[in-house]
Amino acid sequence: MQTIIEPFRIKSVEPIHFNTPEQRDQILKKADYNPFLIKAKDVIIDLLTDSGTSAMSSNQWAAMMQGDESYAGSESFFRFESTIQKITGLPIVIPTHQGRAAEKILFSILGGKGKYFISNTLFDTTRANIEFSGAEGIDLICDEGKHPSIPAPFKGNMNLVSMEQCILDKGPKQIPLCILTITNNSGGGQPVSMENIRGVKQICRKYGIPLFIDACRFAENAYFIKLREQGYQQRSIPNIVHEIFGYADGCTMSAKKDAFANIGGFLAMHDESLAQQCRNLLIMTEGFPTYGGLAGRDLEAIATGLEEVMEEHYLQYRIRSTEYLTNKLIDAGVPVMQPAGGHAVYLDAKAFLPQIPINQYPGQALVGALYLHGGIRSVEIGSLMFGKYDHDHQLIPAALELVRLAIPRRVYTQSHIDYVAEVIIEVFQHRDKIKGLKIVEEAPTLRHFTAKLKPVSL
Ligand SMILES: *Cc1c(COP(=O)(O)O)cnc(C)c1O
Repeated sequence: MQTIIEPFRIKSVEPIHFNTPEQRDQILKKADYNPFLIKAKDVIIDLLTDSGTSAMSSNQWAAMMQGDESYAGSESFFRFESTIQKITGLPIVIPTHQGRAAEKILFSILGGKGKYFISNTLFDTTRANIEFSGAEGIDLICDEGKHPSIPAPFKGNMNLVSMEQCILDKGPKQIPLCILTITNNSGGGQPVSMENIRGVKQICRKYGIPLFIDACRFAENAYFIKLREQGYQQRSIPNIVHEIFGYADGCTMSAKKDAFANIGGFLAMHDESLAQQCRNLLIMTEGFPTYGGLAGRDLEAIATGLEEVMEEHYLQYRIRSTEYLTNKLIDAGVPVMQPAGGHAVYLDAKAFLPQIPINQYPGQALVGALYLHGGIRSVEIGSLMFGKYDHDHQLIPAALELVRLAIPRRVYTQSHIDYVAEVIIEVFQHRDKIKGLKIVEEAPTLRHFTAKLKPVSL
């Protein structure tokens, strides 16, 4: 097979700043071993997130010049609205400044004490917004999704048996919404099959629970369905996407992912009375319903990006590049989540650093080691992000200890990715020298963004 090439030429470039391991040692100490506290200029390859880090296309930049910045009824809003209506089939579209703003609005209305939100896996901001409302979030991932090293085609699927059991246990009236995250970000960027989406919808319908899709990576998920699910090989991506949203009562979306935008998001739905409540909150926190915290030019960039993301040459290159990095690591014996996810490669930190106990955060220790050795910035998705404390302040660990290397869209080339593989493999060869960390300071919610840590030996 021929090499799958980047389906774009580069018109504008951004320099990378290089530094030495000695300099990075000082930088990491000053950042209290938290990658979120490192300055971007001190990073060589930035794989912290694929969120808002995409390279925009020449067509997106051109569209931005057409931004209509009218406060009310801007042309850019109508283009944004009709694009989303066309892609999703959802009639009501409400712009927000990013995905979590859409979540905040939705869960402020539907959440509250005694309520439960069920999901394949809730993303961290989604869970935080649910819990902030007083409600509880319940993850019901399929069994394959719990084992990082066992390959399966759709490890993001909901466990339908647990889902129905959970509804019966809690009572359908206590469950305002079921949320399907596609692809499953916290669960390794693994896709959800159409069969599973259909199954979830069936159970939702049986118990009168609306289904919302956390649609951040809808196009990547659709491409996996086309590749892996029987009966979809001949279908176009827009057609598959349309079927996915056809099962949904609504969605939340971060345009910082599969819309190639640097900022933005939206809520979309069928229910006019819910939408009216959302708009009322929106006006208070985001802005008037035809801009919702965004500039007209942002609405344009998103509308153009949503069309571009469904192009098959792009999706083929996108999915191939995470698979390429994953396969290089597998060949070197590095423990990674298999198969590759859509937007990221996940290292299994528990298997990578078996000498570090979970309460010394092996994932975060590995994040530090990758930065020190090669200037690569990654993020822990494990007990620092999702851990809780019991009554005796003992850590209740997360299900998995992962390190995520998220690949920004259209930003890095194959040689950048080759360098990343080399760095990880070299760190793996010296893994026994890596030490655990302890938390010195932390916030009560979403602590991974601001926590300060230090090596246990200090
Ligand atoms: C990024 C993300 C969000 C939140 O979106 P923001 O734009 O970062 O606020 C919600 N869900 C998933 C699955 C995400 O990946």
